[in-house]
Amino acid sequence: MNQEPILIEPLSPLKPIYLMSEQGVTDDQMRAITEGIHAVLNVAQQKMPIYDFGHWRHTQWRDNGQLRPFHSVDWYLERAQEESDRAEQLNADTLLNLLAMEPWRNPDEGGQRHYDVVVLQSDLYSGSDNNRFIIGGAYPDLGAAISVNRFQGLEPSLQFDCIVTETIHEMGHVFGLIPPGRQRNVEESLGKHCTNVCSMRQGVNVPMDWIRFTRDRLQQGPFCTDCEQDLRGFFA
Ligand SMILES: [Zn+2]
Ligand SMILES: [Zn+2]
Repeated sequence: MNQEPILIEPLSPLKPIYLMSEQGVTDDQMRAITEGIHAVLNVAQQKMPIYDFGHWRHTQWRDNGQLRPFHSVDWYLERAQEESDRAEQLNADTLLNLLAMEPWRNPDEGGQRHYDVVVLQSDLYSGSDNNRFIIGGAYPDLGAAISVNRFQGLEPSLQFDCIVTETIHEMGHVFGLIPPGRQRNVEESLGKHCTNVCSMRQGVNVPMDWIRFTRDRLQQGPFCTDCEQDLRGFFA
């Protein structure tokens, strides 16, 4: 046996962040999303470019009147509706799975490694859990789907602050919170969440829990010290 050791370069967690949004999401709501992302990158002490593709459509987004797979926001959302068993809600798992397999993230297909954040005004649910709705979903190291739907009834400045908190929470998940090894100050509630005064708490009572988390965040910062450490650990 004369086998050369194969050296596998660790893939860097530093990647650009691609934003896409559903039609109807306002500029203010997008500003809140961007502010949330920056808040997380600040704590992580990392810099990554953010590209906002808006309501993205490739120049050849249709083919004989059909939506071309992976070539517009419209297509991702159409699939998330087709794979939903609820008329008024999109399937967040479908959306995240499609992002995971899109050609745009595969260097072999001319793509570029990146994180995805899809912002929706439609309501979401997750097929993998028994839930009435979710405000967002995230896959670690991949991206997030964030819906502003449940905060739209709030007055503008509170709505803005709650969307920032929600974005911090979902981006926290994208950047590995809460890591599987952590036993301290955690609970299992639709995934692993923090039990400290922290944006990584689980808030099933919407919007009330999130208004409370937002108040705490504005007084004490986005994350508790446990999550801060874990977040920096993701990039270490
Ligand atoms: Zn969560
Ligand atoms: Zn925490």
